[in-house]
Amino acid sequence: MQMSFESVFLKAKQGEELSKEDIVCLLSADEHEQKALFELADEMRYKNHGDVVHLRGIIEFSNYCKRDCHYCGLRRSNDKIERYRMEIDELIEAAAGVKKMGFRTVVLQSGEDMWYSAERLSKVISAIKRDGNTAVTLSIGERTEGEYRLLKKSGADRFLLKHETSDGELFKRLRPGTDLKTRLECLKTLKKLGYQIGSGNIIGLPGQTLGSIAEDILIFKKLNADMIGIGPFIPHPNTPLKYSNRGSLELTLKTLAVTRLVLPKANLPATTALATLHPAGYELALSCGANVIMPNLTPMKFKSRYQIYPKKAGSDLEALKLTEKILNIINSMGRKAA
Ligand code: SAH
Ligand code: SF4
Repeated sequence: MQMSFESVFLKAKQGEELSKEDIVCLLSADEHEQKALFELADEMRYKNHGDVVHLRGIIEFSNYCKRDCHYCGLRRSNDKIERYRMEIDELIEAAAGVKKMGFRTVVLQSGEDMWYSAERLSKVISAIKRDGNTAVTLSIGERTEGEYRLLKKSGADRFLLKHETSDGELFKRLRPGTDLKTRLECLKTLKKLGYQIGSGNIIGLPGQTLGSIAEDILIFKKLNADMIGIGPFIPHPNTPLKYSNRGSLELTLKTLAVTRLVLPKANLPATTALATLHPAGYELALSCGANVIMPNLTPMKFKSRYQIYPKKAGSDLEALKLTEKILNIINSMGRKAA
């Protein structure tokens, strides 16, 4: 039986559990239906999180990566990128600057760069945690359980490791040498060690289906992810996917909205990728379920070199200016930054 949007929408509104088929139906919403979906997600966001938008300052500390993901400009085969690595002291200083600006969470992100041993990173984490009121989030890819444990012991609170796609074949093809099962096991290990975990996916990967996006959402739920980053695919000219289409704005927003309905309590960022795809990306995401923004506060001399994809939103703006711009967006929408 073909499900009607209306009946599934009603189910979602009443907080009933949604099946994969239900989710596919919502993701297929047409322009008119989509409006109702976004409004419901916004309502759900308000009920569970109020008007607060959490700001989390991100520092991209190294663009070296041992992986070769087909979609990413940091992949090791990209020899046109000028690589950089921040010194430990330099990174501690940058994090102190982020705290001084008033941020209560510092997110440390990089390619999978083994120069930063767990011991070296521990030094950075302990320095950031010394004041006792800053949360540290890591986004450094796949490591061993022992390393994750040491980093936790040094004070790391959260870990972002997007599972990227629930389609095991696609995962393997686009992330050579890695597999979905290992990635999901890393997330389970992180949870077991006491981290708050973040997952997420990329919308518009070539070969992706609505069914696999629906499975992504069910994985978020199964993981009981605290944070979920949903961003469109943006092709990078020095990667094998350079001729692929970018992800669709509508489908990214619909995925965000449905994720809000399925995980009412999760923290959902309005992603930089969405702000790169569309000039009003932050506003649009905040209107259909998002409650977090992660301004990119990487020091200016490195910022333009962290090119996961080209023309990343905010990469031309210095930390204070970018934060001011984002605060203006939040305030103009009648929301409150925290
Ligand atoms: N190396 C770590 C963290 C840095 S990459 C990791 O892979 O987990 C951070 C995120 O960038 C990835 O999770 C991926 O979802 C996203 N990303 C990479 N290339 C992208 C592209 N071309 N378009 C959109 N998002 C991309
Ligand atoms: Fe490396 Fe992460 Fe980019 Fe893959 S997505 S190449 S792991 S930085």
